[in-house]
Amino acid sequence: VRILLLGNGGREHALAWKLSQSELLDHLYVCPGNGGTAQELKTTNVDLALSDFPRLVEFAVKNEINLVVPGPEQPLVDGIETYFRKVGIPVFGPSVLAARMEGSKAFSKEFMERHSIPTAKFRVFKSYQFDEAVHYVKTCGHHVVLKASGLAGGKGVLIPSTMEEAITGLKDIMVTHMFGNEVVVEELLTGPEISVLAFSDGYSITPLPAAQDHKRIGDGDVGLNTGGMGVYAPAPIATPGIMDQIMRETLKPTIDGMRKEGFPFTGILFTGFMLTPSGPKVLEYNVRFGDPETEALLLLLEEDVDLVSILMACAEHHLDSVKVTTREGYAVSVVMASQGYPGDYTKGRRIEFKEVPSDVVVFHAGTTQTANNIVTSGGRVLVATAYAPTLEEAVKAAYVGVDSVSFEGKIYRRDIAHRALKIGGG
Ligand code: ATP
Repeated sequence: VRILLLGNGGREHALAWKLSQSELLDHLYVCPGNGGTAQELKTTNVDLALSDFPRLVEFAVKNEINLVVPGPEQPLVDGIETYFRKVGIPVFGPSVLAARMEGSKAFSKEFMERHSIPTAKFRVFKSYQFDEAVHYVKTCGHHVVLKASGLAGGKGVLIPSTMEEAITGLKDIMVTHMFGNEVVVEELLTGPEISVLAFSDGYSITPLPAAQDHKRIGDGDVGLNTGGMGVYAPAPIATPGIMDQIMRETLKPTIDGMRKEGFPFTGILFTGFMLTPSGPKVLEYNVRFGDPETEALLLLLEEDVDLVSILMACAEHHLDSVKVTTREGYAVSVVMASQGYPGDYTKGRRIEFKEVPSDVVVFHAGTTQTANNIVTSGGRVLVATAYAPTLEEAVKAAYVGVDSVSFEGKIYRRDIAHRALKIGGG
């Protein structure tokens, strides 16, 4: 099998790492890839723009690609699947219609309502409905969450603490058109959050263990929001009972509902949940692998699980015929970032690597290979990931990975998995 993987993050390096272990893989091209993907076996980085779909198709046809795996959401929401379908190359990822589950929060909320999938109560307002939106927020007493409907790179959600803030937020989205012009006003939920990533071929769905991420830059969950500073899985808070409920009330109805409405889901569905006092409720859908969830979850897969056959089986609609099993134990990922992230930071710092134990993998994110060195080239630079039988050991091993790397301005959180360790998840 010849695969074209799109993206350049830690997620894509983890995918490349696992795909390149498969005997079914002939060659993997990663576009544009990073310093880590460049080092994997049977793997080549390709420098083409992710937004230039005709060029990507031309490359895929010329290089006899059998499967395309888009990492980030933007190309999926922009309809990359259509381009490859037209030339008969399967894509592990949703069609443009199915990608609306991530691309439009208004769409996904209305979908959930139609299928009685548990989620926060909500109303959708278009930009010309500003006065109605203000009136609605006033009746809720500002205990709401405001969400720009379109893709906003994680910056489109506002949880106002006063009525004034709520009105300013509505103005920003609806009048100033920061992040589009449609707003979802949602009931404020409470409870711990988990993420569930699940493979689907449009008919069946196979979830991986629940993960818990750490969005804020600072220890103790303070400071600015980031793309994610660390993750661990399985999250002990997602008991087997909760996972069954999630499967029954959300994952199955989502996959069945999408197929019945004419836009079946192929790929990996990432569902964010809040475990509220009245049960798990959906916060959002993403239609692709999460980063850094993927790094940890791929380490949890049993070693003989073949990722090439899973992705092919999803794209070809026979997921039931392949093995998707995870091992007992825990995986932990700790992100190393450039000082200043998520704001401005310096690039081009030389990175030094030391050997790591066999159960630790240091995935590359914002790195580039130069003639003689690997240098930093992004905010999130590397993701130390480890597997171990207990959560305590996995955390310790992940930090051994962190200590094995040095570059000027390296920052990372020291408290990954603190929530689970507190409740005795090991
Ligand atoms: P990201 O891509 O960063 O995961 P997003 O911009 O797609 O986020 P959501 O996941 O919907 O948006 O919301 C981001 C965060 O806001 C959630 O992880 C959660 O902490 C909080 N949040 C969202 N909806 C609610 C809600 N109804 N009640 C309470 N908190 C919420």
